[in-house]
Amino acid sequence: MMKAKEGKYVWLNGKFVDIKKALIPIKCQSVQYGFSGFEGIRFYKTKKGRAIFRLEDHMKRLEYTMKSLNMKFAFSLNEIRKAIIKTVQKNGFEEGYIRPWVGYTERKLGLDTNPTKVTIALFADYWPLYFLGKSLRVMISPFVRLAPESFSLHAKIAGHYVNSYLASQEAKSNGFDTAILLDRYGNVAEAPVANIFIVNEYNEIGTPGDECILPGITRDTIMKICKDYYTAEIDISIEDLWNAKEVFITGTAAEIMPIGSIDCFHARLNPSINEHVCWPTGSRTKIVNVKPGPITKKLQKLYSQVVHGEITEYEHWLTYI
Ligand code: PMP
Repeated sequence: MMKAKEGKYVWLNGKFVDIKKALIPIKCQSVQYGFSGFEGIRFYKTKKGRAIFRLEDHMKRLEYTMKSLNMKFAFSLNEIRKAIIKTVQKNGFEEGYIRPWVGYTERKLGLDTNPTKVTIALFADYWPLYFLGKSLRVMISPFVRLAPESFSLHAKIAGHYVNSYLASQEAKSNGFDTAILLDRYGNVAEAPVANIFIVNEYNEIGTPGDECILPGITRDTIMKICKDYYTAEIDISIEDLWNAKEVFITGTAAEIMPIGSIDCFHARLNPSINEHVCWPTGSRTKIVNVKPGPITKKLQKLYSQVVHGEITEYEHWLTYI
C-alpha cells in the first residue's frame, strides 16, 4: 500500500506558505482551550479528473462549526471553497484528504478576551485508505460519548476530540483497532471518528439517531445510496449490537470498515455505564464475523463507485477540479 504523504503547501489566511512555516502562537485560545474547528474532506481520482466528494455538505458543516464558535468570517464561504480547490491543485496529489482548520490565534490568554481574528488554514495530503481487507477488532469504550446538552456535537470542534482521542488510545493500547462509545443512556453512539451501523437478522440496517453523535456525511451517503435494504435511525442497545449479523463504521477518512469482533470487558468496569446496560452473559467478546459480511462488502463497493463518479445519479456530489 502507498504511504501517506504530507502536502507541502498550506493555504493560511489567504496565502500559500510552506507547511514548515505555517505556525500559530502557543499562547492563544485555540491551543490553550481547544477552541477551534475543522473538517475532513476526501478527493478522488475519477475518469473526468480529480473530484472533491460532497464539498458543499462539508462547507455547510464548517459554517455551522464556525457559527457555533461565534467566529467572525474574515473570508466568505465562497472564498474558502475556492481556496480548498486551489490547495488541492497546488499540492498536486491525485487523490487525498483535505483538512480545513479554523481557530482563534491572537496571542492572548483567558476566557474573557474577545478574540476576533480567525485563522483559516487548509492542508491537503496524500492519504490512502487504511482498509486492508480485514475486519476490525473493537472494544466498547469505558469513555462515554459527550452529552449533547454541553455543546452541540454536530459541530466539528477540536475540544470534543479529547474524548475520541482517549477512547482510541485506550483501545489501541489494549490491542484493539478502535473503540465504540456508548451514550449516557448506555446505547451505542459512535466510534471515535466514525459512525456505526448494524445489520439485523432481517437484513435491515440501523444507525443511531443524531442526538449524541456527529452525523457524518458518509453516514448520510450510505442512507441515501443504500436502496436494496431498509435503513433507519434507531436506538441500538448492547443486545442489538450482540445480535447483529454485520456491523460496520463509516467516515470520510475510513470510508466503510467492517467490524469483526467486539469486546465489552473494559466498559463493564465503568460503574456509570453498568447502571444503564444489561450486559450479555457468557463470553466477553462477540465475534460478529471473521471476514467482512456480504452487505458491508456490497456497500463498500457501491460507495467506492459513487465517490469515483461511476454512478451518474450521484455525480452531483462531486466537484471536479
Ligand atoms: N463521528 C465523528 C466523531 C467524527 O469525527 C467523524 C469524522 N468526521 C464521523 C463521525 C464521520 O463523519 P464523516 O462521515 O462526515 O467524515
